[in-house]
Amino acid sequence: MSPEPLRTDGPACSLCGDPAVIRQRYAGRYLCGTHLIADLEQRVSDTITSNQQVLPGDCVAVALSGGKDSTALLLLLHRLFMSRKDIRLVAVTVDEGISGYREATVRSAVDLVQRLGVEHITVSFGDLFGDSLDTLVKGRKTHACSICGILRKKALVMGVQRAGATKLATGHNLDDEAQSVLMNVLRGDLMRLVRNSGADSGGRFIPRIKPLMYIQEKEIATFLMVQGIWSELPECPYAIHALRREVRSMLAGIEYRHPGTMLRLMENRKTVGTAFTGKTIGGPVGTCRECGDPCSGETCQLCQLRHSLGR
Ligand code: SF4
Ligand code: ZN
Repeated sequence: MSPEPLRTDGPACSLCGDPAVIRQRYAGRYLCGTHLIADLEQRVSDTITSNQQVLPGDCVAVALSGGKDSTALLLLLHRLFMSRKDIRLVAVTVDEGISGYREATVRSAVDLVQRLGVEHITVSFGDLFGDSLDTLVKGRKTHACSICGILRKKALVMGVQRAGATKLATGHNLDDEAQSVLMNVLRGDLMRLVRNSGADSGGRFIPRIKPLMYIQEKEIATFLMVQGIWSELPECPYAIHALRREVRSMLAGIEYRHPGTMLRLMENRKTVGTAFTGKTIGGPVGTCRECGDPCSGETCQLCQLRHSLGR
């Protein structure tokens, strides 16, 4: 998504009267670049502190793909924590090995960490699984995303372990999260809806946090644009996401006509999650008999995938 071009002859910021760069329809106001940046910093700080997502002594690994959401996330967390000696920030990038796509985003991730002076760990599918995703999927019927999703999850965990991190922060924004709520409802997947609500996962997984979960995609794009960081990056050539695409355009239309819809969907998910607090969702977490990772059956998805790939 490209943000609308910034205008200087349009409406004024509701807080200072300077030219506005964005209209926050759900809040009934316009903001200039300075107030948009301040607003996002405050909301990220509120999200983190209200849920005690980051505590003194934590090392936060930011999943940095190099795309717009993770770029904004690292910028905001860096600003928030740069004066804190008791919190360490590390960026973790997974390079799946997708030619024509990953080179540009990895370059953008490297540029950003160098500019901010943030520690950076890159984990590639080649290092971990012996081959790039391009090679692994060649000649197979299984869709690339099914293989990539499982390997990426593991690669990210390994990056987090290498960093010695205690929390993993991902760049999911309000649009992503609201779309996921609706998709889980449309698929009738109550288990995933509850799991994504932040209900207890049993303490065997690294805690994941989503500091941008209440910030809209267009606010993130405009935030990057006003700072001159916006750049159009290629999309993954394997991406299909058919249902998500439909839900995304439907939800964007509803949000435009009924501002605040996405936030209300998030509230609903929270309510459902609260109702399940303390209850076991989808059976207890077991241990993979082959690799010892937590899993729900006898063998984890990664070990099953290894077998099917003949590795
Ligand atoms: Fe991997 Fe699919 Fe995402 Fe591409 S679109 S990065 S293949 S999960
Ligand atoms: Zn396993």
